Amino acid sequence: MSTLDKLIGDLVAANRILANEHIVDGFGHISVRHPTDPSKFLLSRARSPELIEAEDIMVLDLDGSKQPGDDRKPYLERFIHGAVYERRPEVQSVVHSHSRSVIPFGLVGETIRPVVHSSGTLGYEVPLWDTRTKFGDTNLLVSSMAMGRDMADAMAGNNGVLMRGHGSTVVGKSIQEVVYTAYYLEWNASLQLQASMLSRNPINFLTKGEVDSIIGRISDGLPGEGFSRAWDYWCRRAGVAG
Ligand code: MN
Repeated sequence: MSTLDKLIGDLVAANRILANEHIVDGFGHISVRHPTDPSKFLLSRARSPELIEAEDIMVLDLDGSKQPGDDRKPYLERFIHGAVYERRPEVQSVVHSHSRSVIPFGLVGETIRPVVHSSGTLGYEVPLWDTRTKFGDTNLLVSSMAMGRDMADAMAGNNGVLMRGHGSTVVGKSIQEVVYTAYYLEWNASLQLQASMLSRNPINFLTKGEVDSIIGRISDGLPGEGFSRAWDYWCRRAGVAG
């Protein structure tokens, strides 16, 4: 199997996992940078993640353009992905979702920060982006490169960004990593919200040193640990080959 075919297999599996774990529903998407041409990325045609097969995967330029002869309909919000790949050369995979627990934070202007070791891959903070600041009243969908770039600028060097009244976007150095971070962003949001309701005491967030230590450990990629252990588990639950 070629590197490209393997990556497409992982991208299909990631779509099923994210749907099965309720990070995405009928909407939301995951992409991966093209393995041999960093000026392109792979993303399904406009389709619900649960239904995606290898034949649905399209190749897009970073500006969202299709390849000649491909008449399939891409996602409107493909610019989220292209703009992030353009701004962040080290990023290899991007997830955009409307996962529920994350959304209240953007509504009140509160950022998300890791509260448990499992969500250390979020980095120090997940900042907030608001379409209205630059684009005024829109339907909130990221429907142009200008909007995608503005969102990517708000994310800056972080591993994710909250999108006011919409959802969130997270990035990673692999499909396995970004699925992990998307899953634990949702979990962290739920826990952070619960902690804020439990007491007026300030939340005891993870320190920068703790976050650095967690990312260092998980990036070692030891077999049976971290991303690979979670990936195998989620593949089994979603009924796809790991
Ligand atoms: Mn969206």
